[in-house]
Amino acid sequence: MPELPEVETMCRGIRSIIGCRFESVNELPCRLRPILIQPSLTAIASQLVGTRVDSVSRLGKRVLIRSDNSIYIVIEPRMTGLVLLKDPPNQTHLRLEFCLSRDPDVAGGQPDHMRLLFWDRRGLGTVRCMTSEELDQRVCHRLGPDALAMDDLVYRQRLGKSTRAIKVALMDQAAVAGIGNLYASEILFLAGIDPRTRCHRLSRDQWSRIHQAARRVLLDAIEYEGSTLSDGTYRNAINGEGGYQHFHRVYDREDEPCGRCRQGRIRRTVQAQRSTFFCPACQLRRGRHSSWVED
Ligand SMILES: [Zn+2]
Repeated sequence: MPELPEVETMCRGIRSIIGCRFESVNELPCRLRPILIQPSLTAIASQLVGTRVDSVSRLGKRVLIRSDNSIYIVIEPRMTGLVLLKDPPNQTHLRLEFCLSRDPDVAGGQPDHMRLLFWDRRGLGTVRCMTSEELDQRVCHRLGPDALAMDDLVYRQRLGKSTRAIKVALMDQAAVAGIGNLYASEILFLAGIDPRTRCHRLSRDQWSRIHQAARRVLLDAIEYEGSTLSDGTYRNAINGEGGYQHFHRVYDREDEPCGRCRQGRIRRTVQAQRSTFFCPACQLRRGRHSSWVED
């Protein structure tokens, strides 16, 4: 967390900064271990101040803000980072602010001064500033295609020969960008596939179901602005909760009855040091369970 839907929500939530000019970049007083900021704040400010925000987009689980001199701010929230326009959950974990202004003649009812904030409780998030060449070499080069840009053929090409378990492979950002621990469990439940199945044993039909389930889960989660779990950490750009947690089918539902087959109970197992949730009765290694319905 945050994964593709949460980061997409952050991007959509801050798009009002497009066209605004950077006035200053400031590290905020925080007694905790500092987050990684690269290069130094002074160097970032010297590249950005006076330029305008050209675009806001998502790259896997990162927020990309491009300025009109083609410099990118790359924000990776990692475990608990948030990108906000206002109302941070507290002041204690506020790390960085970008002060922006909008020319009065184009303000059009929007506030003419804005703050873009980076808040991070655990402090594992990163904020880096880079040129487009650096972005290609250091980030894009190491990422697979975006999960929303994949089709079943691309899934098969990138993962089909792997001997890893499908749940673990789906979280590998070099293979598919954007899916993390929570959505990998939800996608495999919807696809009706046992998360422990090794990729090279999956059939064409199963890859097709993974592709369809991934689109359905990720797009639905974006519509509900992501998932705010019981720790309450994830918030949208104006400190509101996401809503997709109310629609989780297996994640964090250990021992609850399965809503699909009504025969099994949701089980938790650990794969690559992360919790996986699944229904052993209707998520199969081969074929489809009789309760499986195309929807
Ligand atoms: Zn089931």
